Amino acid sequence: MTNFASLGLAKPLLSALAAEGYTTPTPIQAQAIPLVMDGKDVLGIAQTGTGKTAAFALPILHRLAENRRPAPRRGARCLVLSPTRELATQIAESFRAYGAGMGLTVAVVFGGVKYGPQVRALAAGVDVLVATPGRLIDHIQEKVANLNEVEIFVLDEADQMLDMGFIMPIRRIAKTLPQKRQNLFFSATMPNEIGKLAGDLLNNPSKVSVTPSATTVEKIDQKVLFIESARKRVLLAELFDEAAMKRVLVFTRTKRGADRVAKGLCAIGVEAASIHGDKTQGQRERALAAFKAGEMRALVATDIAARGIDVDGVSHVIQFELPNVPEAYVHRIGRTARAGAGGSAVALVADDERNLLRDIQKVTRQTIPSWDRRNDKGLAQAHAAMASIEPDRPARDPRAANGRGNQQKRKPATLDAAGKAQPDRGQRARHRPAGYEPLALVAAGDAPPKRKRNRSRNRSGGGGGAVSAS
Ligand code: AMP
Repeated sequence: MTNFASLGLAKPLLSALAAEGYTTPTPIQAQAIPLVMDGKDVLGIAQTGTGKTAAFALPILHRLAENRRPAPRRGARCLVLSPTRELATQIAESFRAYGAGMGLTVAVVFGGVKYGPQVRALAAGVDVLVATPGRLIDHIQEKVANLNEVEIFVLDEADQMLDMGFIMPIRRIAKTLPQKRQNLFFSATMPNEIGKLAGDLLNNPSKVSVTPSATTVEKIDQKVLFIESARKRVLLAELFDEAAMKRVLVFTRTKRGADRVAKGLCAIGVEAASIHGDKTQGQRERALAAFKAGEMRALVATDIAARGIDVDGVSHVIQFELPNVPEAYVHRIGRTARAGAGGSAVALVADDERNLLRDIQKVTRQTIPSWDRRNDKGLAQAHAAMASIEPDRPARDPRAANGRGNQQKRKPATLDAAGKAQPDRGQRARHRPAGYEPLALVAAGDAPPKRKRNRSRNRSGGGGGAVSAS
């Protein structure tokens, strides 16, 4: 079996890998490392989660150390382009971790932060520069960066670059690079435009690919829950009653949607934050750090912001809305089941999303099982218990004091392991917003349940707005 030593990597790299606890190269690493070490151009079809960062970072560090020379002033020996700040940061962190003790310098450049520190970092030149395209072009225009001595050029997550409108900026940057260079190009999918870009940038590349959809899909327990759009937030709140939902990444389609969902979770006592393009770099970093440290149970993200999020131990990926592009479904669920672990992915699918689901199933060549939670024993008991009790309601709601019984009676019950109702559901339930009611869920093909408009708890005031339908 291949191991890192047999790939011929330099000693400091082997020590760094041992320190990281990596014993065996992943398939993309086993394929790509020898090619990159040989100086070949490589076209890699792989998504995050396959170990592709190390697949290019390790042999690049090896080559840079083998042919040491001073870093060019205002320039870099290796340029890595990444679509997002998060991914750029993570790639730079990987280079630093794997290259510890090699005396090579790494800098990262992206938008949304001050220019000064980046200008200073670039001034002396660096061995490895990781950048997002927009800010790098600013530095090139300002003559702060000069890339005409780049030896190795890496384009990561090319298909995401396309989605974000970065193809022209990439072509502009590539024009400033020397003709003679090594090119590494990674993409999870190969739409036409990306194929064309690869054809223009790469020189007789060796192709390596791992089949992410198959491998990722196999390891992840995937479920589809059919639910009306208007009830999704209530359902989400209910899903968080499961203790197993420890570290959960929730995907929404829009930035505002991410904010709303995060707010709704906070309102029921689930620590959550949203990350998306409108958040400042500081906010994004703080949210990600809290999520990584386990201080926050839920991170609500848009596809773009979630790109490159590499957090170990994500227990669940919830797709609050399905993505418009089927490939994004695979990217999303790939945030769980990282590095060989298992994981769960639940997609909440409304009627008007069934077409998207069909496309996803076609692309991933699978039928995602639908989850009829009425057949789930533990949950069925929970539903029964919850159906028999009134939910809490904020005191300012006049209907809270309508003589329906005392507070004691209205407290929702906690179920013990045997499914018996316990007297107090504790903190989370006390935060349960008005408007909450146990859900009647629909199985695949069922007609969505009608809302019972005559029930007072469905017509609560603004107090529970955070999770109520919008
Ligand atoms: P990536 O695809 O680069 O985002 O990497 C996915 C995750 O796998 C990261 O958390 C890496 O630290 C981890 N990883 C990369 N290579 C290995 C390896 N050979 N053995 C175990 N974990 C790895």
